[in-house]
Amino acid sequence: AERIPVDVAQVLRTTLGMRERKLASGGVELRVEVDDDMPLIIADGHQLQQVFLNVLVNAEQAVGDSGTVRVTAQARPASADDCDVVVEFWNDGPRIPAELLPRIFDPLFTTKTEGEGTGLGLFICRRIIREHGGTITVRSDAQGTAFTVCIPAHPPAP
Ligand code: ADP
Ligand code: MG
Repeated sequence: AERIPVDVAQVLRTTLGMRERKLASGGVELRVEVDDDMPLIIADGHQLQQVFLNVLVNAEQAVGDSGTVRVTAQARPASADDCDVVVEFWNDGPRIPAELLPRIFDPLFTTKTEGEGTGLGLFICRRIIREHGGTITVRSDAQGTAFTVCIPAHPPAP
């Protein structure tokens, strides 16, 4: 995989653009907040796009016909001091039951009906983010569900 300096804000814009028409045609409100001083990170931009797209589509599917999806990107937030970039995807919608949370990153784990989900998305996302030296974590409560992607500017040597 090719690792070059990548503008995460640009990758996010491309990803959101791919879902724009679908989102506009439904009842899903999309809010995007991206810091304007995002650092470049050494990464495979296509793989990052794959991660963002899967997590975004999961959020859309979770809210269904109406709801809110919020995407935020922050540069070196004080709350996560080993991350150079933190991207969070939050949606309202039903919480993920606590007993299922430890399984959602497992290969082939899906709660979707056949044809809608393969259960491979989050498994691949986690692998990609780990290969970049980062983390992807989830929290889910009565208000909604958030996936947080933390990426260092310089990945470890493979
Ligand atoms: P798939 O989307 O094919 O089911 P994923 O690996 O992307 O596979 O996700 C696995 C499971 O995690 C989903 O089937 C769903 O149960 C749960 N999940 C993922 N994202 C969300 C979300 N934003 N809200 C609620 N559940 C989610
Ligand atoms: Mg998925």
